[in-house]
Amino acid sequence: MANVGAGMLTRTISSKKVNLKEAMLLAIKNNPSIKDRFKDANIIGNIDGWGLPLGSKKRKLSGNRIILCGDAASMIDPFSGEGISNAMYCGMRAAEVSRDAINSSNYTDDFLSGYDQFVYNRLWNELKLSHTLQKLCNYPSLFNFVVNKASKNETFRQTISCMFDDIDLREKLRKPSFYFKMLFG
Ligand SMILES: Cc1cc2nc3c(=O)[nH]c(=O)nc-3n(C[C@H](O)[C@H](O)[C@H](O)COP(=O)(O)OP(=O)(O)OC[C@H]3O[C@@H](n4cnc5c(N)ncnc54)[C@H](O)[C@@H]3O)c2cc1C
Repeated sequence: MANVGAGMLTRTISSKKVNLKEAMLLAIKNNPSIKDRFKDANIIGNIDGWGLPLGSKKRKLSGNRIILCGDAASMIDPFSGEGISNAMYCGMRAAEVSRDAINSSNYTDDFLSGYDQFVYNRLWNELKLSHTLQKLCNYPSLFNFVVNKASKNETFRQTISCMFDDIDLREKLRKPSFYFKMLFG
């Protein structure tokens, strides 16, 4: 069994009037690079949709007697769509700050705002970089160029694949030297 999905920015769905379920089914049926994988497949259950609260901008994460974690704090990586690890990090920090709040009987906005700093000090650079990469998808020719290169070169393919996990590797995508090496390397 496989869990199959398609994602798109909400504003693109609205502006281009996309029916995402239909688009996904069409891709499964017709897209030459994936259709063979599904030729004998049956759909089990309903196709469900859900919005992913992406961490594309800084938000206030706490207030009087409130701490937001994970999806409630919009902590999903805007490039990979992953939110579990960030939610766990938020949970860990929220527990620590809550412990300190209980010990000092202080649950004010001001006291709890230390939580925002902890979380963004650790996660903001990564979220910002992922948002930059997400915007790269607005340039299909550049994106297709990278993907086509990757499909022909095993080392490059591995590099791109590791970029989903490795923040230092992902940082390279922002550097012009990366594209220069890709062109001539
Ligand atoms: C289709 C899909 C695929 C995804 N794939 C990935 C992936 O591959 N990797 C990845 O890292 N992330 C993935 N994500 C994102 C990831 O699931 C979320 O970012 C992550 O689960 C957020 O954790 P959370 O604890 O903030 O929220 P949740 O996991 O949503 O937990 C919130 C919990 O609160 C409960 N709840 C809600 N209201 C109440 C209430 N009033 N009282 C009591 N309980 C309540 C809910 O039932 C739920 O159990 C995916 C998301 C979707 C929708």
